[in-house]
Amino acid sequence: MAAVATETTIAQKLEALLKLQNIDSALDGIKKMRGDLPEEVRDLEDEVAGIETRISKFNKEIAILEEDITKNRNAKKEAEKLVNKYKDQQMNVRNNREYDAISKEIELQQLEMELADKRTREFEFKILNKKDDVSETETRLNTRKKDLDAKRKELNVLIAESEEDEQKLMNNRDKAVKFVEERLLRPYDKLRGNYPNGLAVVLVKRGACGGCFSAVPPQRQADIKDKKRIIVCEHCGRILADVEDIVFISKK
Ligand SMILES: [Zn+2]
Repeated sequence: MAAVATETTIAQKLEALLKLQNIDSALDGIKKMRGDLPEEVRDLEDEVAGIETRISKFNKEIAILEEDITKNRNAKKEAEKLVNKYKDQQMNVRNNREYDAISKEIELQQLEMELADKRTREFEFKILNKKDDVSETETRLNTRKKDLDAKRKELNVLIAESEEDEQKLMNNRDKAVKFVEERLLRPYDKLRGNYPNGLAVVLVKRGACGGCFSAVPPQRQADIKDKKRIIVCEHCGRILADVEDIVFISKK
């Protein structure tokens, strides 16, 4: 390919901008058709992830409580063993003093056993409550998952309808954007962002700016047609790429 030595003319720059604008407008149209669905899907995805985190937190808490119960049951068994051991010892005491001392030990261990039972019941109660929380949260999770599935399907249908067009447009955009100077690309993006309709480059239509519909004086229209420089709308700042030829439609 021969090196391009010539500067791009203003006309070429405007043509490149207009081409990019047309592609972006078509892409905007596709996005508009999808409406709030992509955002709704994202929100639901976030919510589902949040609920799942809550459930796993509850389940971790339940696991810790179950460990606590096991510890208490083991402590009770230990105390029970001691009680049995002391009772055996009590059979072979030599005097009342020894008997009483062992009785005290037995009493102490029996208290330990009661305490362990009490704690186990408390933990079991806590687990029941947590399990209620889990099942309540799981119900909510299932509802939200169903909502998400429905929205995703809806969105996928819309995407499938326009996917091919969108891909083509994106490819065309990649090519078209290379023809637009870096210096013009930034104001172009900024202008597009400023207006809900995403129009940065417009034509003069019926003597008015195609973006804000303010009248463009004839001399200015002539300058725009000349394409010696880039002219923007005095009212909205949009780039006026050309003046649309008036087409007379014959009425039958
Ligand atoms: Zn304007």
